[in-house]
Amino acid sequence: MRWAWARVDLGALEHNVRVVRDLVAPSEVWAVVKADGYGHGALQTARAALAAGATGLCVALTQEGAELRAGGIGAPILVLSEQPPEDAARIVAERLTPTVYTPGGIAAIAAAAAASSGADPVVVHLKIDTGMHRVGAQPSQALALADAIVAAGLSLAGLFTHLASADEPAAGSNASQLATFDDVVTRLAAAGHAPALLHAANSAAALAIGGSRRDIVRLGIAMYGIEPGPAVSALCAELRPALSLRARVSLVKQVAAGEGVSYGLRHHFTEATTVATIPIGYADGVPRRLFASGCEVLIHGRRMPVVGVITMDQLMVDCGDATVEVGDEVVLIGSQAGSLGSDTIRAEEWAARLGTIGYEIVCGISKRIERRFG
Ligand SMILES: *Cc1c(COP(=O)(O)O)cnc(C)c1O
Repeated sequence: MRWAWARVDLGALEHNVRVVRDLVAPSEVWAVVKADGYGHGALQTARAALAAGATGLCVALTQEGAELRAGGIGAPILVLSEQPPEDAARIVAERLTPTVYTPGGIAAIAAAAAASSGADPVVVHLKIDTGMHRVGAQPSQALALADAIVAAGLSLAGLFTHLASADEPAAGSNASQLATFDDVVTRLAAAGHAPALLHAANSAAALAIGGSRRDIVRLGIAMYGIEPGPAVSALCAELRPALSLRARVSLVKQVAAGEGVSYGLRHHFTEATTVATIPIGYADGVPRRLFASGCEVLIHGRRMPVVGVITMDQLMVDCGDATVEVGDEVVLIGSQAGSLGSDTIRAEEWAARLGTIGYEIVCGISKRIERRFG
């Protein structure tokens, strides 16, 4: 067993799903488990979310959906954007729900559906680009695409969009994107298209923009107990972080005043101190540039600074006058209570130090780190 691992608290994840489910009801919660469940383990996360009341799942890639099916997941799985046309047969065979928004995307799914032996029509969701300009059909194209979906023998079960600035709930673009979406819904309805599942909200919108909760909310980051952004922080008070990143001290040494540490000897000690080596580095997802922006870890419940450059497999910690021994537990992200105190370091803290978002921190924890579930 390697002395560096991530612990995923599935109870916290289930709690978070329930909190959001209660908030958004009667909207359904579909759990977003792309990117290996934001680094938390897709299959385990999906099972926990469904157990806590989520009624569907969302993924980014065909492969991600197929892995959930291989794991025995029977719930609806929405693939959030069009995939290469070569994937269409697999999408249909695995009973994934494709998102479509181009004539070519519809044609590929329709051809795969026609070639399959399934009795029920293949269900698709149509995505509208209401202003983010990432993926989706232009609103002016929506009706023609809905007609094409039905003409191809597919079932238009869902219609959705995505807000560019949901993590800034007061931004005017949110209201205008939702108005554009509603206008498309109205025009499709007038032409006889009434998709049963409308959706527009990610985590931030589900928490902060009541009018964005339609039939479904697509719940990603908040399910993992991480804030979508500082502006919605207050709405996340009940959420609990599910992931902690832990290691053990692998070596302890006394270092004299004036000595340096790690590559380039870029940190020098002004006083004699105790330095602990921790066997986790940037190949595990502890970004190298954290050494410059400040990084602390918890040992015996006390914050201690990472000193010197973070290397590929290891980093060093200045333990000062604390007594630290090989095998002692180190918390890089998470909570720890011990003989020297009690504290918590959140993924959001790393994100703030690095000028990024919590999403990137947890998605960056590499495959080399075993996920232990509890
Ligand atoms: C990733 C994603 C989500 C989930 O967003 P969170 O901010 O993590 O809740 C929802 N919808 C789409 C289209 C996505 O790509």
